[in-house]
Amino acid sequence: MTYSASVPPAEAGATSHCTACGQEKPRADFHLNRHGNPYTYCRPCRSAMSKARYAAKIAAMPPEILRARADRLARQKREQEARDNAKAFAKAQRQAAGNVEQDAQLKRFKWRENRKRGLHGNGTRKVLPPEEVAANRERVEYFLLLITDQHPTEQIADEQSWQQALSELNRLWLLSGDRVCTCCGQTVPPEQMHPPTPGNTRRGMCKPCAVADYEADRMANFGHLTEPRRLLQRDGTTITVAELARRHRER
Ligand SMILES: [Zn+2]
Ligand SMILES: [Zn+2]
Repeated sequence: MTYSASVPPAEAGATSHCTACGQEKPRADFHLNRHGNPYTYCRPCRSAMSKARYAAKIAAMPPEILRARADRLARQKREQEARDNAKAFAKAQRQAAGNVEQDAQLKRFKWRENRKRGLHGNGTRKVLPPEEVAANRERVEYFLLLITDQHPTEQIADEQSWQQALSELNRLWLLSGDRVCTCCGQTVPPEQMHPPTPGNTRRGMCKPCAVADYEADRMANFGHLTEPRRLLQRDGTTITVAELARRHRER
């Protein structure tokens, strides 16, 4: 029986010669190409080569690409950790349902999370000495200037440091003493007010006031949502948004 060059014998004892390590190895030690022929190099050699090529590719990247890559990897790691954390929490919660030992685990997890947020394990606020509260308040102001890019001398260089500054601000906010609500004038503990971060459009309002203000805004803008809002036209008539959109399409 003869074999053409592109179809080698596939019997058990067949071997191939790797031109990289120079060894004669069994066929099983070679990947096959799409024609079914063994590659010139054995599996370990091919693997080593592709690792080396990848390392060389990384090493040749310009520094700013490398930095962006490092940032991306760090972010992906953080996101993965957050997902793992959430999974662990959900699992602990599930198992805690009928299990005293795992109930304790869930409790320990919550205590750890609370302490990470700068609270007592049971979620209550620590009573801090006034000078520490004042120092925290200053730090909050500092981080606020940083993340809104209003600090006179310092600037945040990358997204990662921005995220760090934001989470530090959120942590310190809870330790920076009571605030007076600009809306109802009541003095509230910091956990009763959202920190004045860029995304917070109701800064200085306590949470109940912020919710009420949001509701008032929504009512002013959209009403009771029973009938479509009407827009006043120059000729004094009113039309619905849908009508306006239809006219635009026809134009
Ligand atoms: Zn080899
Ligand atoms: Zn209020």
